[in-house]
Amino acid sequence: MAMAAMDRRTTPLDLEPDAPLAPLTSIRVGGRADWLCTARSTRRLVAALRWARVSDVPIAVVGRGSNLIVSDEGFRGLVVRLSGALNHISVRSNRVICGGGASLPRAVQRAAAAGLEGLEWGASIPGTAGGAVAMNAGAHGGDVAESIEWVVVCSAEGRERLGLADLELGYRRSAIVGHQVVAIASFALRPGDPAAIKDRLSEFRGQRRSTQPQGVRTFGSVFTNPEGDSAGRLLEAAGCKELTVGRARFSPVHANFIEASRGCTANDVLALMAEGRRRVLASGGPVLVPEVRYLDPERGVIPAPLPPL
Ligand SMILES: Cc1cc2nc3c(=O)[nH]c(=O)nc-3n(C[C@H](O)[C@H](O)[C@H](O)COP(=O)(O)OP(=O)(O)OC[C@H]3O[C@@H](n4cnc5c(N)ncnc54)[C@H](O)[C@@H]3O)c2cc1C
Repeated sequence: MAMAAMDRRTTPLDLEPDAPLAPLTSIRVGGRADWLCTARSTRRLVAALRWARVSDVPIAVVGRGSNLIVSDEGFRGLVVRLSGALNHISVRSNRVICGGGASLPRAVQRAAAAGLEGLEWGASIPGTAGGAVAMNAGAHGGDVAESIEWVVVCSAEGRERLGLADLELGYRRSAIVGHQVVAIASFALRPGDPAAIKDRLSEFRGQRRSTQPQGVRTFGSVFTNPEGDSAGRLLEAAGCKELTVGRARFSPVHANFIEASRGCTANDVLALMAEGRRRVLASGGPVLVPEVRYLDPERGVIPAPLPPL
C-alpha cells in the first residue's frame, strides 16, 4: 500500500511517516522510509509486524546500520528499530542476555565486568546484538556462532525461540530472513581471569586503531574475504587504495573500507564497489562478494547489488 493511501490515524501504532534513514546508518547515505517504528517490547514489535502484513507493506530491520547502505530512493515500507526493553542487557550466571537492539560493545563490556570470557572479539564491532546474530559478526578469530545459545525471533506470526542449530550460522551469514527480527539473544560464556579479559580487550581495540580508519563515515568490511586471502590485500594489490568515485573512496588506511564524504550517495558507494571488484578481477583475482547489505526501495534488505561483470 502506498504511503499516500494511509495516514497516521489509520495505524494502531506510533509510526513515524517519511523518516530519514541516512542518520540511522554509519555511512550516512540514502533516502527516507515510508514508515519507521521504534519498538520497545516484543508485544509492540509483533503488533508492528502484523500491521505491516495486513497493510501489505514490506519490512526491513535496522540495528545500528553499521553494515548497511540505504538506497538513495529510500524504502517503500516499514523500517523497524528496537529500543527500551529490547536494548536491555542482563548477566545471569554465565549468560549475557541482550535485547536485539543492545549495543554489542556494551554487551562485551558487561561480560568483562562480570568476569566472563568469550565475547571479547566484539569489542570494536559497532553494531547491535541482533545485527551481530543476523550477520554472524566476528573478528580476531571469534564470532557469534562460538557462544550464541538461543535467540527469540519475532515475526507477524508471534515470538519463537531458536537454538544454535536453527540459526545455521556461517561466514557472515545466518538463516534469519527479512521478516524475522532477533528480539533477544543469549550468549553462553565462560568464567575467565578478569585481568586477562581486560588485556585482550585493550589488545583488540589497539589493533583496530592501528589498522582501520577512525572517525570517518564507513560501514566496516565492503567484501568478504575469499578462502585463504583477504579482500583488503586484493583491493590494495589492484591499486584500489584511495580510488574515488563521486564522494566515496576506498580508505587509505585499509582498502576493504569505504569512506564517505559530505554529499556522498548510495550510488557513489555502489559504483565504487563495482569498480573495485572489476579491478581485482582484471588483475587476476577472484570475484569479490559484498559483505555489506543494501536496503532496496522495494525488496527490503538484500546483498549489495553490483552489475554483472
Ligand atoms: C568501523 C566498523 C568496523 C566493523 N568491524 C566489523 C568486524 O570486525 N566484524 C564484523 O563482522 N563486522 C564488522 N562491522 C560491520 C557491522 O558492525 C556488523 O556486521 C554488525 O553486526 C551489524 O550490526 P548492526 O546492528 O549495525 O546491523 P545493521 O547494519 O543495521 O544491519 C545488518 C543486517 O542485519 C539485519 N539486522 C539488524 N538488526 C537485526 C535484528 N534485530 N534482527 C534481525 N536482523 C537484523 C539487517 O536487516 C541487515 O540485514 C564493522 C562496521 C564498522 C562501521
